[in-house]
Amino acid sequence: MSLPSQIGRPHLDPQINAALSELPCGYAIFDHHLQLLEWTQNLTDLLRLPPEALRAGVRCADLLRQSARFSVFMQEGRQNPFRALTEQAERGQSYAFEATLADGHVFDIRSTQLDGGGLIISWFDLTTRRAGIALGQLTLRVFTQAPDGIIFTDGSHHILAANPASGQITGFDPDELPGRVIFELIAPANLETTRRLAALLEKKGSWSGEFELHRKNGESLPVSLRVSRIDDSLTDRPTHYLWLITDISERRHAEALIRHAAQYDALTALPNRGTLVTHLAESLPGARRHHQHLAVLLIDLDHFKLINDTLGHRIGDGVLLHVAQRLAKLLRESDYVARFGGDEFVVILPAINSPADAATVANKIVSALAAPIEVAEHELHTSPSIGITLFPDDGDDGDTLLKNADTAMYHAKAAGRNNFQFFASEMNRATTERLDLERKLRHALARGELTLHYQPQFDAGSRRPVGVETLLRWNHPNDGMIAPCRFIPIAEQNGMIVDIGEWVLHSACRQMKRWLDDGLAPLRVAVNVSARQLRQRDFCEMVAGALADSGLPPELLEIEITESSVMENPQETIGILQKLSSMGITLAIDDFGTGYSSLAYLKLFPIDHLKIDRSFVADIEHDLNDRTIAFGTIALAHSLGLKVVAEGVETEDQYVLLRGNGCDEIQGYLFSLPLPADAAFAFLRARCPAR
Ligand code: C2E
Ligand code: CA
Ligand code: CA
Repeated sequence: MSLPSQIGRPHLDPQINAALSELPCGYAIFDHHLQLLEWTQNLTDLLRLPPEALRAGVRCADLLRQSARFSVFMQEGRQNPFRALTEQAERGQSYAFEATLADGHVFDIRSTQLDGGGLIISWFDLTTRRAGIALGQLTLRVFTQAPDGIIFTDGSHHILAANPASGQITGFDPDELPGRVIFELIAPANLETTRRLAALLEKKGSWSGEFELHRKNGESLPVSLRVSRIDDSLTDRPTHYLWLITDISERRHAEALIRHAAQYDALTALPNRGTLVTHLAESLPGARRHHQHLAVLLIDLDHFKLINDTLGHRIGDGVLLHVAQRLAKLLRESDYVARFGGDEFVVILPAINSPADAATVANKIVSALAAPIEVAEHELHTSPSIGITLFPDDGDDGDTLLKNADTAMYHAKAAGRNNFQFFASEMNRATTERLDLERKLRHALARGELTLHYQPQFDAGSRRPVGVETLLRWNHPNDGMIAPCRFIPIAEQNGMIVDIGEWVLHSACRQMKRWLDDGLAPLRVAVNVSARQLRQRDFCEMVAGALADSGLPPELLEIEITESSVMENPQETIGILQKLSSMGITLAIDDFGTGYSSLAYLKLFPIDHLKIDRSFVADIEHDLNDRTIAFGTIALAHSLGLKVVAEGVETEDQYVLLRGNGCDEIQGYLFSLPLPADAAFAFLRARCPAR
């Protein structure tokens, strides 16, 4: 090798020296006496030497020794490579070795003999390159061993490389992945999602979030995704995308467990207090919007503390568990039961029809907890004290409802435990009475407590009887006569009216047939029918059965239906009424004027009689409005070919007014009260004997 003309002072151009000094290598040139001739400026930095160490004429051996002293980290027992280099140089031979400096820098150091004597020594800094290789090896290890899926795609989302973990996560063989569009992999069925994701990446350069990934076998797997776009530094166009995919199913599972533990009671597995409060708060807006009533029942176990204190917590827990199971069993799916704390439970009944519904459930709870509970061979008895509040009556928010239910619950305790109390005392009275009545009514029919009275109806002109209306009576052995307006609504609500009504119809037909057989001139017998009965699928068959059974001619039977029940479901009613009419039965619309029907609409129904409600008749002498309605109804009914019956006629004046305005028939105390069967027969036979 010959001496490079550009290196060495005075030959070396300062600009070139400066440029060379930018490279990660330095040079020193020695003459044939091995004394320093030229060097690059960066050598002091590279070798961490003080500036005065580098001057012309310095001996090669000294420079090397010094540089070794200053900078090289020597391993013990190893021969100093600088000494080797010095010896080789003195012998006119080349030498090369690698040295690691104390600060971790790695150098390739080599000496090369120059033609005609002299030596050039170069120091080449390998640190960055070495680090680059090491980093590459590390990266590869991370790529293959990482538990997360790592996928590289090109700028158009085709997979270039995918690590083994991404195969495990997606369910694909890692070899199957390259070449596919990554979106096909993560959400094949959801084009919309992938389109949005691609657009987002395009726009923002990165995206991270959680996602339901579709595995190859069709399962879905919750993953967290982090996607970054890698841009070309020149064009700013995306060249690659890097996807990091982490399976988070275990985390999800853990989260679900934690959430469950936070929301449910560990002992009974019922929702806990916090969950109940949230549920209640969430239920109220809907109930408010739909004008629904909701009941909150706060249940406290009587004497539970005694069980706990005398038999221990384990037995106490057993009791609570049994109570929870019994509660859960007796409630409907839409109902909600929670453990409120200690020995308190809360039940929420959404969309109840009346306070009586809440009372019915409370009663069920009382009887469900009446049976003894067996825990670890102890037979234990507990009973509930229940406080009931109703939304919106007793509170507009969950807090108030629960607080008031608590107050009511204390009233239940004070009232002797093992019972329930409504927050509002008036409600207590009304529902207790109602429940009491309902209980008694269940036996009324079987025990023969029901009878029928008959109220005659008269021709307005001749004042002769033309028919009777059948009116139900309940004579309770202890309570005496109970008015129909008290028990019929209950029977309608709980469905008992169906059986009772069937009995009424059969009895009334049989009664009238017997009267005819006993010498009464043919008279119409009217029977009241509730909407609930009418909607029974076999109603018409039942009526036909009553006629066949009694032998009463159909034209002597009239069915009375209130205007409001006709209007509940006019379409359906028309069909039923037409069928009855075709059987020869006559039909009357009861309580006319209290509903919202128009006469024109009623024209569509096969009706024979219209009964003006007695509330209009009562004031007909004094109230101009009532009179207008009554007389208007008569005129319109006539124009439609209907006969009008006025109910509740009590005075001669009312009768005169009604007759004067064309009313066809009259019913009321003026001519006759409703009468027991025997009295009715005597009354009617005296006025219309059979010819
Ligand atoms: P309704 O069908 O309007 O019956 C007429 C009611 O007016 C009867 O009351 C009758 O006693 C009463 N009344 C009759 N004349 C007069 C009068 O001059 N003045 C006054 N103030 N009232 C009079 P009742 O017997 O208490 O029946 C009440 C309601 O109970 C009936 O009203 C009817 O809707 C219902 N009902 C009675 N029996 C039955 C039945 O067998 N089945 C059904 N579904 N409902 C019945
Ligand atoms: Ca009636
Ligand atoms: Ca009526």
